[in-house]
Amino acid sequence: MKKKDLRKISEIDEVDFELAEDFEEGSILARTPIPGDEEILLPSLRPRKFSEFIGQSAIVEKLQVFIAAACERKEPLDHTLLLGPPGLGKTTLANVIAAEMGVQIRITSGPVLNRAGDVAALLTGLRQGDVLFIDEIHRLSKNVEEVLYPAMEDYHFDVLIGKGPTARSLRMKVQPFTLIGATTREGDVSAPLRTRFGVVSRIDYYAVDELRVVIESVAKKLQYPVTPEAASEIARRARGTPRVAIRMFKRMRDVAQVNRQEAVDLVTVERGMRMLQIDSIGLDYIDRKILEILLKRFDGGPVSLDTLAVSVGEEADTIYDVYESFLIQIGFIARTSRGRIATRAAYEYFGMKPPTPANNQNQLRLFEN
Ligand code: ADP
Repeated sequence: MKKKDLRKISEIDEVDFELAEDFEEGSILARTPIPGDEEILLPSLRPRKFSEFIGQSAIVEKLQVFIAAACERKEPLDHTLLLGPPGLGKTTLANVIAAEMGVQIRITSGPVLNRAGDVAALLTGLRQGDVLFIDEIHRLSKNVEEVLYPAMEDYHFDVLIGKGPTARSLRMKVQPFTLIGATTREGDVSAPLRTRFGVVSRIDYYAVDELRVVIESVAKKLQYPVTPEAASEIARRARGTPRVAIRMFKRMRDVAQVNRQEAVDLVTVERGMRMLQIDSIGLDYIDRKILEILLKRFDGGPVSLDTLAVSVGEEADTIYDVYESFLIQIGFIARTSRGRIATRAAYEYFGMKPPTPANNQNQLRLFEN
């Protein structure tokens, strides 16, 4: 935080725009880790064991059994696919799995692995039982996927040496390993790749109580206390997402710090959230813009994702992964085969009257259920 901002919050206006601008530099809802995120700044603060991984008990229990069984057989864990929106702990879980198995983890992502040679180099570098984590696995190219298939099934792959009539194929062995794939786009994972995963786990949005525990544990690690009410309030607005909860806590800590408070309390949270323009259920400026465009410009829909993205001025991927999936989760938007439509809850949020049979057939069908 800059020196000029080190003045008492009580001395400044309801919304301090200078401070608010600082806050906007790295969006609270950015899809991927941003500088300043705890996982980049202090990777040691990430949960490293199942005992530190909060929530998702069904997945954790299942994985613990599979890991124990694999360890007993002295085999690697089955290839595992983790599904779910950004920031819910897929990378963290992959790290925890590797640590619990006592093996190394190699981390990469679909868009980075462009050529078959890239993945071949990674595979040959793996040691017995290692974990290869591929984030955004739905973005792998076809030729990279084709190297992975035999590697996942029989721990080998073929490379083509030379060109034309003299070209020959060379079989390379790979040490038994576990591939952990993560994706926000289940529907975009190709069928042949998906069928090669023995374990498929969907990570859901977290409950408020679980996020409160995440916040309290990060507050402890960062040695900046948070009152129970403040932790619950941040958790309520954190959109079911640990990464968002942690980022929000850190911004609230900034507010507490400039106000020379020793702890993040409820008043701090209310002020901080106002600066970030985040409302009581965690909707921010872009969420409201999406809903307003859908309701007012498109009469509640249906409207395609691309049209919505252009109208809002955000990337379609960001709208899909971050905003829309949360708005669907809280029942404000529904995805239909003809496009996105606003639900009754969205109309009520803006104090608008939901459509009647006479003025919107598409909306009516939804409200009849
Ligand atoms: P993803 O890979 O799904 O985008 P990450 O694993 O990078 O999400 O998690 C984002 C942040 O949230 C990290 O700082 C991580 O430590 C924290 N986090 C995620 N899940 C949990 C959890 N279950 N318990 C505690 N912290 C978590």
